[in-house]
Amino acid sequence: MTDTIRSTCPYCGVGCGVLLTPQGNGALKVEGDPEHPANYGRLCSKGLALGDTVSLDGRLLAPKVDGKTAKWDDALQLVADKFKDTIAEHGPDSVAFYVSGQLLTEDYYVANKLMKGFIGSANIDTNSRLCMASTVAGHKRAFGTDTVPGTYEDLELADLVVLVGSNLAWCHPVLYQRLAAARAKRGTKVVVVDPRRTSTCDIADLHLKLAPGGDAALFNGLLAHLADQGEIDAEFVSQHVNGFDAALETARAEDLSLTGLTEADLATFYDMFTKTKKTVTVFSQGINQSSSGTEKVNSIINCHLATGRIGLPGSGPFSVTGQPNAMGGRETGGLANMLAAHLDLENAQHRDAVKSFWNAPEMPEAAGLKAVDMFDALAAGKIKALWVACTNPVISLPNANLVEEAIKNCPFTVVSDLSDQTDTARLADVVLPALGWGEKSGTVTNSDRTISRQRMALAHPGEARPDWEIFSEVGRRMGWEEAFDYRNEAQIFREHAALSKVAGDFGKDFDISALSDISDEDFDGFEPQKWPITAAREGGRFFADGKFFTPTGKANMLAVNARAPQAELDEEYPLRLNTGRQRDQWHTMTRTGRSSKLSKHLAEPFLQINPEDALACGLKDADLAVVKGRAGEAIFRVWITEDVAKGSPFVPIHWTCQTAAASTVSKIIPAIVDPFSGQPESKSAAVNITKFTAD
Ligand code: SF4
Repeated sequence: MTDTIRSTCPYCGVGCGVLLTPQGNGALKVEGDPEHPANYGRLCSKGLALGDTVSLDGRLLAPKVDGKTAKWDDALQLVADKFKDTIAEHGPDSVAFYVSGQLLTEDYYVANKLMKGFIGSANIDTNSRLCMASTVAGHKRAFGTDTVPGTYEDLELADLVVLVGSNLAWCHPVLYQRLAAARAKRGTKVVVVDPRRTSTCDIADLHLKLAPGGDAALFNGLLAHLADQGEIDAEFVSQHVNGFDAALETARAEDLSLTGLTEADLATFYDMFTKTKKTVTVFSQGINQSSSGTEKVNSIINCHLATGRIGLPGSGPFSVTGQPNAMGGRETGGLANMLAAHLDLENAQHRDAVKSFWNAPEMPEAAGLKAVDMFDALAAGKIKALWVACTNPVISLPNANLVEEAIKNCPFTVVSDLSDQTDTARLADVVLPALGWGEKSGTVTNSDRTISRQRMALAHPGEARPDWEIFSEVGRRMGWEEAFDYRNEAQIFREHAALSKVAGDFGKDFDISALSDISDEDFDGFEPQKWPITAAREGGRFFADGKFFTPTGKANMLAVNARAPQAELDEEYPLRLNTGRQRDQWHTMTRTGRSSKLSKHLAEPFLQINPEDALACGLKDADLAVVKGRAGEAIFRVWITEDVAKGSPFVPIHWTCQTAAASTVSKIIPAIVDPFSGQPESKSAAVNITKFTAD
């Protein structure tokens, strides 16, 4: 038996530690790591089934060019030449990278450096745009940086936890277990704000069945109530907050009917918040995936800033990310509108500092194309060479039919991934075999800023390589030998940590400079640590000192305008379709779909629909139904339930062209985005529903 290896789960942003014991023949035993600060030994159903998902069935073991097996050298040279030629002919903005929150921090760092510093374009964006971009924008508006104020421990120290647009029980199950345990021990009150009754409501003292899109109105109403009740922390506001008066004036004018809640429910919630100093407000995709997601984020933060409920144990706004390394992507600047190390692309001093640190020839001065805009530009023929790494936009981006056509028509597409059979890889000119979880090595950052190691426990299959190495090889072949002369992950991590010192020098939050000279050996043995990690300061909560990262040092409250979802309902499309995850599947099921255990929970794509809507649509339980939106349609099994409100049916996101072609929900979702964050409104498509008939 081989030694046990400590690593991190590859699924959600909780970032649980796992113990991996290779069993021989490629099998892996997976247990929770009792010493990891995210989970202390706990795992959810998905984490426990990881061992079922590591087979090499369907793996790409060597590069392919035009569908034929090719040598690495030839494939890499072709990619480098095509990108160079395209840039020479059409300029740097004619190429783009679309990457993933599943990449490790070292992969993200190299990809971002190649695109922003050397190609000279900011056209690198990530599928994290679909997950938490509105939180990033909201944090930056309020705090001056994308800073997560709290920690997981805060959920255990709070007297009240408000979960907004978050089905924590299914989407962040171990964090839910920690909250449920704290509630059982010390009587924590829990409020769930969600149009659906989800499993999270099992521990709710109050469930507010909010109207879709009513979140900002709810928190504007709360801000006005807090002021009326004399609950504003005047000293904190005067010393540490800008914009209070304008935010309150707008909040007082709020139309609370947008919430769809009764006066009694509103009064109960407002009273609970007002009377409970130690309150954590957790928010997730129900807030982020909205055409007004950024405004919603700021409406929540406003209430915490106005009452000084921030930066204290058991108190603060807290965003939980969907992906295992969405945070690492944010730290390395993997979004089109960010620079590395939480520096600002549009700030000349920041740009110059990073350019000089990288010794880079180029640096774009403006934000690049965000995910939806990137694929619109591809469809319009403005992007002529595309590299997709570790993600599957053909079935995960909104308006999926358009995305598929755009990639088909792109003159040159590269995909680096585990398989050449994903819906996107099948359309690529070049497919490069990348290492997957359990095989690769590097770091990830979870939702509470804890950096953990992913470690290799399985042999590298075939000729597969780490993503950072693939990007580096192309960078060298494009002429930047020295800048991309990386030998291992530790070397990249040291550079990433050293660059964070630049951010610290500008008074920015992301600073792990104490790790800039970490040895290869210490990197191998790196224990989970929460950033910042500097000589003077380690981990913990931000903002306890009332200092924020804006030019004035004060936080900003924003005057928030609540808005209904943008997809218009009409006679043809009268229903508002909600979407989300289910307990035992992950994203497009490329990994979880391999576990028969996980498929036992909910085995096929379903449509939850309220009994009144089902009657109106002529549907019975277990019928097949066609859900049709303006962008496309998909088919689901009918599940009639009072858990969803009238007018607001729900479907899961996981089934795809590969697993259930007809049930790809992204075909229905229109490409409507938040104006600040560019995040698509994935939970509010206008649809009609009819019974499926074979003809
Ligand atoms: Fe993995 Fe998230 Fe489950 Fe933890 S809670 S085991 S990180 S899926």
